[in-house]
Amino acid sequence: MSECLFCQIVDGTIPADIVARNERAIAFRDIDPKAPTHVLVIPTEHHRDLTSLAAADSSQVADFLALAVEVAELEKLGSGYRVVFNTGVDAGQSVFHVHAHVMGGRRLTWPPG
Ligand code: 5GP
Ligand code: ZN
Repeated sequence: MSECLFCQIVDGTIPADIVARNERAIAFRDIDPKAPTHVLVIPTEHHRDLTSLAAADSSQVADFLALAVEVAELEKLGSGYRVVFNTGVDAGQSVFHVHAHVMGGRRLTWPPG
């Protein structure tokens, strides 16, 4: 069994509120939302961060971002949304399976804290 939390969500060992999927990625609600809509989009294949995913297969980045855009449409975030990749410890990454945070549903502040 994988030790990676998000691989366990991919294989169904850990439940998640899945909102969309395509052939190579899934999207599910963040367990601790920081915005009214806060969805995580992950490739089903394990890569620790965006740098590793891009190095391994840049076509996966495209599939994966296409699902992030689809989530924004499904969640009706047309008035604005943010897609964030925390990459590495200094950026606050805490789960080392690459994920995009798709956030919206209210006026978001910039820069973030
Ligand atoms: P990071 O800090 O790595 O950029 O983001 C990790 C995100 O995963 C956090 O926003 C956190 O709330 C979320 N998270 C952590 N554990 C779980 C979980 O078991 N299920 C879900 N759905 N989200 C999780
Ligand atoms: Zn993983």
